Amino acid sequence: MKNKILIIEDELSIAELEKDYLELSGFDVVIETDGKQGLLTALEEEFDLFILDLMLPGLDGFEICKEIREEKNNPIIFISAKKEDIDKIRGFGIGADDYMTKPFSPSELVARVKAHLARYQRLIESSQNIGKSNKILEIRGIKIDRDDRRVWINGEEKAFTTKEYELLLFLAENPNRVFSKQELFKAIWDMDSYGDNATVTVHIKKIREKIEYNTQKPQYIETIWGVGYRFKV
Ligand code: CA
Repeated sequence: MKNKILIIEDELSIAELEKDYLELSGFDVVIETDGKQGLLTALEEEFDLFILDLMLPGLDGFEICKEIREEKNNPIIFISAKKEDIDKIRGFGIGADDYMTKPFSPSELVARVKAHLARYQRLIESSQNIGKSNKILEIRGIKIDRDDRRVWINGEEKAFTTKEYELLLFLAENPNRVFSKQELFKAIWDMDSYGDNATVTVHIKKIREKIEYNTQKPQYIETIWGVGYRFKV
């Protein structure tokens, strides 16, 4: 099946150029020229990768990227007219995977698209093997060393209490599965004599403060209202 790419770009000549090169390389391409409509399309349809312009009518690429990241983990490549914008995107850590400045070489764009799709595919495959015996477990920006019980977030090591660590590891080892607070409590605190489901809530909150860019809109541990939590991959 062909990989499908969404380009959100208001300069139609640039969008068409990108589209031509990507189609020649065997991709299916959809173009949106308005930010709001682009976001709707991004969320409603299935795409393998997103190419976002920064300055757009309706909604800027920055907001679109944040909204997409709440729902999807597919690669996002930013294309911007200004080098400073790229620095800004990078600085805010909104979850973009790559950045290119205009004018850019379309074949360079195609090369990066291919590289990101390949990397994403490996990530999906490795997340399906997460339960296996690798010493290092890596999910997007999170790296867990299971032998040494150490955790890095975007390259920076963070300290976790024993139970926080065990809870994070348990969720990360069972990605995309929803667990109730009871199940989590039983899995992590089983033999301990006291504590209850509220203990789970408190620990999730502490873990989020360490791993999430925005704890109000978590990208890793998601709250499923009325059910529990799941680690999104
Ligand atoms: Ca623009």
